[in-house]
Order: sequence, then structure tokens, then C-alpha cells
Amino acid sequence: MTDDLVAWLTEQLDHDQRIAESTRQASPSWQNFDMDGELRDDVNAGTVCIAGDADRAHIALHDPARVLREIAAKKAIIKAHGPHLLYHQVVKDYDGSQRLGTLVRCRSCEPPQEITRDTWPCPTLRHMAAVYADRPGYDESWRP
Ligand SMILES: [Zn+2]
Repeated sequence: MTDDLVAWLTEQLDHDQRIAESTRQASPSWQNFDMDGELRDDVNAGTVCIAGDADRAHIALHDPARVLREIAAKKAIIKAHGPHLLYHQVVKDYDGSQRLGTLVRCRSCEPPQEITRDTWPCPTLRHMAAVYADRPGYDESWRP
């Protein structure tokens, strides 16, 4: 399961990164010019868009520069929350049956919790994936 969620989440971040990198402005940092009612990039002051005050403020907060910083941070978090293999042990399923399961622990989550490989990934990665739950391919079993 972890490989599926991590691969899917990485695809979503790669998709967002491609869009952020494909903007046609000279600078990825955008500023809200209230006086003109425009959103401009901060190098050549080219108009990004003309929109209402609240929309401009929101768009300026989520300019490509910030999106790319967030993507880099999210990819680092994904890497930090990889599974640490502990050991194999008999585990009980929901129906009461027993089987040999692999117990893992997230390398970063605190307090450390031992969970089976089948119920991996950790809550942090599940929350990160839930941000993109409206996109195709999201598996409802990943929901935290
Ligand atoms: Zn974790």
C-alpha cells in the first residue's frame, strides 16, 4: 500500500510542479498591486491577472514560487516518513483470523507506532494524500 500512495502522491506533486514551472511570467514571485487591481510578477511587473481584491490576494499567496517551495517541502516530508522494517509477527485480522504480518514503524512520526505493512502508510502521509482526494486515482482506503 505504501508504494501505491507514495507513487500516486508523488505524481500529484510532479503534476503541480510542471504547472508551476510552465507559467509564462518572467518571475515566479507575484505581487498584488491593489492600486491597479492587478496581480503582477515582481521582475517585470507584467500583468498576471486582473481580478477582485480577495481573488488577487489568494492568487498572490499561492504564486508559482511558493507552490514550488511547498512541493519541495512535501517531497522531503514523504522521504522522511518512509517505513522502517521492524520484524515479522503473527497478526490478527479484523475477522479474527491470524496470519504472518510485517510490522513497520515510520522513521519520523512521534510517538512511534508499530503497524502492519498492510495498514501502512503512517497518518502523516495519509493526511498529505487527502489534500488531493478530489483527483482521479485517490483510494478512499488511504483516508486518515
Ligand atoms: Zn510518519
